[in-house]
Amino acid sequence: MRRTFNPLAASVIIVAASALVIGYCILNPEYAKDTLIIYVCTMVCATLILAISGWIYKNKKTSIDEKEITNVIENLNTEMIIWSDNFSYVYINKKLRDLLGISSEKSDKKEAVWTAFGINTPDASALGKIAGSYSYESSFRNPQGNLVSIAWSTSPVKKFKKQWIHLSTGFNLTELKKMRVNLASANDFFNSSMELAEIGLIMSTDRKIYRASPELVRMLGLRNSTINVNEFRALVHPNDRIQFDGAIKNRDMSEIKNIEIRLRSADGSYRWYSYRFKSIPGTGNTLPLFGGAVIDVTQEHEKDMLIERLAYIDEVTEIANRNRLVSMGQEIYDSCKILNYSFWMIVLDIDRFHIINDTIGYSNGNYVLKNFAHILYKFVTPGGLAARISGDNFALLLRDYGDDEMPTRTVKSIQEEFAKLAVDELASISLTCSAGYSKMPEDGSSFLDVMEHAEFALKSNDGTQGSICGYEPSMHDSIIGNTELEKSLALAIDNNELQLFYQPKIDLSSGRIMGVEALIRWIKPDGTIITPDSFVPIAESSHLISKISEFVLNEGCRQNKLWQKMGYPNIVMSINFASSDFYQNDLREKVFDALARSGLDPKWLEVELTETLALSDIDFAVNQMNKLRDLGVKLAMDDFGTGYSSLSYLQILPITLLKLDRSFITDIEHDNIAYEIVSAVIRIAKSKKIETIAEGIENTVQESILRMAGCDYAQGYLYGKPMPPEKIQEFFETNEKKSREINEKRSHSNKKK
Ligand code: C2E
Ligand code: MG
Ligand code: MG
Repeated sequence: MRRTFNPLAASVIIVAASALVIGYCILNPEYAKDTLIIYVCTMVCATLILAISGWIYKNKKTSIDEKEITNVIENLNTEMIIWSDNFSYVYINKKLRDLLGISSEKSDKKEAVWTAFGINTPDASALGKIAGSYSYESSFRNPQGNLVSIAWSTSPVKKFKKQWIHLSTGFNLTELKKMRVNLASANDFFNSSMELAEIGLIMSTDRKIYRASPELVRMLGLRNSTINVNEFRALVHPNDRIQFDGAIKNRDMSEIKNIEIRLRSADGSYRWYSYRFKSIPGTGNTLPLFGGAVIDVTQEHEKDMLIERLAYIDEVTEIANRNRLVSMGQEIYDSCKILNYSFWMIVLDIDRFHIINDTIGYSNGNYVLKNFAHILYKFVTPGGLAARISGDNFALLLRDYGDDEMPTRTVKSIQEEFAKLAVDELASISLTCSAGYSKMPEDGSSFLDVMEHAEFALKSNDGTQGSICGYEPSMHDSIIGNTELEKSLALAIDNNELQLFYQPKIDLSSGRIMGVEALIRWIKPDGTIITPDSFVPIAESSHLISKISEFVLNEGCRQNKLWQKMGYPNIVMSINFASSDFYQNDLREKVFDALARSGLDPKWLEVELTETLALSDIDFAVNQMNKLRDLGVKLAMDDFGTGYSSLSYLQILPITLLKLDRSFITDIEHDNIAYEIVSAVIRIAKSKKIETIAEGIENTVQESILRMAGCDYAQGYLYGKPMPPEKIQEFFETNEKKSREINEKRSHSNKKK
């Protein structure tokens, strides 16, 4: 334990000693004088001893503190100096000594301190600046000749012998300064590179604020080199913004990406730029970096335009072709995935375009295609596309804004506009289109997948003109089913599995067979008979129907002529025509050829057409019908009463026979309204010199009601179901016998009367 001088203890001792001396003098007055002299002398000596020991103590204490302090700071990892105003005392710690290259024994430490403080000519004012400063920056060269910078913080510690003792603590700035220099040169390097490269560069560490190179500032006419992402986006052409957004949000660090977009340039026009960008991830010491080069490629683009026109533009319609649709569609698909957008993929088909083309000629057909493309183009929204996929198939890519009705509404508006399109040659043609649509990215794993599904939806409609159908995964089942059926039907045609059955038509006044209706049957190798309702609609939606119709026409004519040659009574052969066959431009020639080949007189051939078929394009239908009538062929209106049922059409259509639909006959014995309608129709038809036949007669009550109503002919199970040729030949014979007997009876009874 350290002993220290205690003034209080000294005072107590002095007081106690004085009290003892005074007490002794009182008790022994005879010795008082001597005692007081001794006491005073003792006190003087004691005071002297105390003063001397105090002085010694004081000096001793200072030297102990200094040692303690220097012990502490000697090994601190920062430069330190303790110095007195007049440099009579100087202490330099090891860190600084090492830096200055001096030893602890060096005699002239003053000089070393000046060096450390960067003072060449020491004077009072220089030292004064240091003594009172918390940040005095000095620079000097170390023995190796390297520049060293230190920031000194100096504070007075105490006054000793009228001199202030100061403690200076240094902070070595040398490395920091080097870093600053490096950073500044890196910045200069970056700026110079940007300037010298003469290409637009844009970089960001947070994808929000971008730094643009001087060249980019010039190209885009930016106000300054810092631009935020929204300002940058505003310069992008609205049609290219989805691509841009996709690029900005792309977090794939693996490779350099490239997009071509239009940017509004300094002169206000949109120019094409290639934006090559990359994401560089941040490390512990660096921030992530994002950006790339923006290069004006307008000239190349213009050159490429010619090539692109050939590669990506459809020649006839001048809108994008399938290639463009597929490449841009995939880009949009990818952006949709990154940005959580959706797009509608609509595939459109012009109804009966092949008929239109055949009817109005190739150049008018092109006119229709061009105008259709033009209409589609009007419906394209920013970022979307209109394209011609093939023939009369088109596509529309539209951004989805959460409105599920959008595709249907858009197609309806397109249909309205398309219907209005009319020139002289087209005035008689009704223009409609059908559509199928799907949504991306939901409806497929790639753009092609989504497009295929929209096409599925288009094909899955029932053939109704103007239909609009959205894709649903369940559609695959029926379409695959239909495709299978289509394949086996095509095989069946080649293998002659199709055969005509004939159903008799009876003259109600004589009971004699006056004709047959040829009805197609598919007879499978195992003998199964398939009725037309199961395969004719599928044949109608493909090109198979024309093969079937050709067979029916030729076979019907051949068979009828054969029966005539065999000596059977002359009867009318009725055949059914599908819409697509009837609207063929060469229909007249085909019928003419079939008649010529078989040698059948045209008056023994009748073509049955449905109301719906005739009225879908009435002027063209009338034209076709007249051509057939001119050949001498009869024309029947089938299934009358199921379609528009307007009697006014009887005025316009050049038909020779009206077939009342089975639905009127089924209940005619009980249903008065049906009876009234049927008899009214028969009356009006008669007035127009049109004969009538009732379909679906199954009993004699129906037969007599119709006979009474004035109906000319009848067809139905009552007389016979559709049957193969050998069976109908038997029917001819029995019918001939029966009707001869009936007629003989009738003339017999007439004679009697
Ligand atoms: P459609 O031309 O109206 O033919 C009449 C249909 O009514 C026939 O059916 C016939 O079997 C049926 N039928 C006749 N009498 C009766 C009866 O008393 N009661 C009942 N319940 N049914 C009766 P099928 O042969 O199945 O033909 C159905 C439809 O298929 C035909 O209707 C026609 O539109 C179409 N079709 C038939 N053959 C051909 C063809 O060669 N070409 C084309 N394009 N279509 C055909
Ligand atoms: Mg028919
Ligand atoms: Mg019918």
